[in-house]
Amino acid sequence: MLYAYPLSATTNNWLHVALVAVLGEVQRAVDEDRDLPNWPEIVPPGYRSRLEGRTSLRDAVLRYHRALATASEPERELVHRIVHGHDALRSLLGGESDCPTLAGCDDALAEPLKQLGFAFYKLLQPLEIRRCFYTEIYNALPRAKLCPFCGTMELKSPKARVSQVLDHFLPRALYPVFSASLENLVPMCGDCNREKLDKDILRVGPGGARSSVHFPYDPIAVRLDLGGVGFFAAHPTWTVGLRQPGLDLETWNAIFDVCRRWNELLSQRYKEWLGNMAVTIVHTRGSVEGVPLADILYDYLELVRKEHESNGRDHLRLAFFEWLDVLVARGDERMGEFLWGIIREESERGPRTAQLHCSSRGR
Ligand SMILES: [Zn+2]
Repeated sequence: MLYAYPLSATTNNWLHVALVAVLGEVQRAVDEDRDLPNWPEIVPPGYRSRLEGRTSLRDAVLRYHRALATASEPERELVHRIVHGHDALRSLLGGESDCPTLAGCDDALAEPLKQLGFAFYKLLQPLEIRRCFYTEIYNALPRAKLCPFCGTMELKSPKARVSQVLDHFLPRALYPVFSASLENLVPMCGDCNREKLDKDILRVGPGGARSSVHFPYDPIAVRLDLGGVGFFAAHPTWTVGLRQPGLDLETWNAIFDVCRRWNELLSQRYKEWLGNMAVTIVHTRGSVEGVPLADILYDYLELVRKEHESNGRDHLRLAFFEWLDVLVARGDERMGEFLWGIIREESERGPRTAQLHCSSRGR
């Protein structure tokens, strides 16, 4: 992620707590071969009044109880491990703990468990938890309100007619215990959601190897970094890395295919960025003859950086001009001649009245 979501948005996570408690109560009733408590006594006392009228929830609990009571011993054991292994999302994502998924469970038991998780999840909206949760996240985002997984697409306003996608970071079909957990509900843009789909993000390593993923509510601030770019090739291939060591770009890429998407965006936009650079330099500095290119580019980079810091946009554009700045400072003659060519061409065009600023259109 390019930046984190605020953990405070997940405080009102009581539906998840209630689901875990109900799953435990069903498990104990089956293990002790006794009847379930009457509805809503199976729900922890603090949440009963809010859930007692939810008959679809009651029915889902009863279906799951019947399925668990008639399941084989190995199936019950598997579900027991699933339910009790899914209690700490942060450590699961970070690879400090592990637990089985529902993939190995017979449908006769897996389906009622999924449906029970879904029944809790569906209550997030009518109980107003979803809207409050997303509004807090949206308000805490940097001004551009960009999806932190790609840094390119905007997230929808909480007031938009169509709600923003809240992805089940751990898919609920595999990890039903996290179906209603706010920590596991992660806003992301439609493009990122389509790339991620229902991937098991804990196993996107080579051959399905265990991967570790940043917990989206833990602080992070990542910068993009260009390197190894075949700029003068017929079809430049950009290499986007991360400035922070220790972060796993491979996992990020395996989930969201960001390197391909960043490459496409760079290829589409870099000429426009360079054009805007030339316009800004020529029309704000006046004459550039005799001024070292490194000084000119450094000043322009400062403009791009300030704009990025103020609006949270332009992650790739900033990385692009930082990369150019390094090349020019090192005395790369070919790049120097190329950039002087663009600047002189703009200078020879004569006065302009438009675009005398850093474009905010670049991302
Ligand atoms: Zn995105």
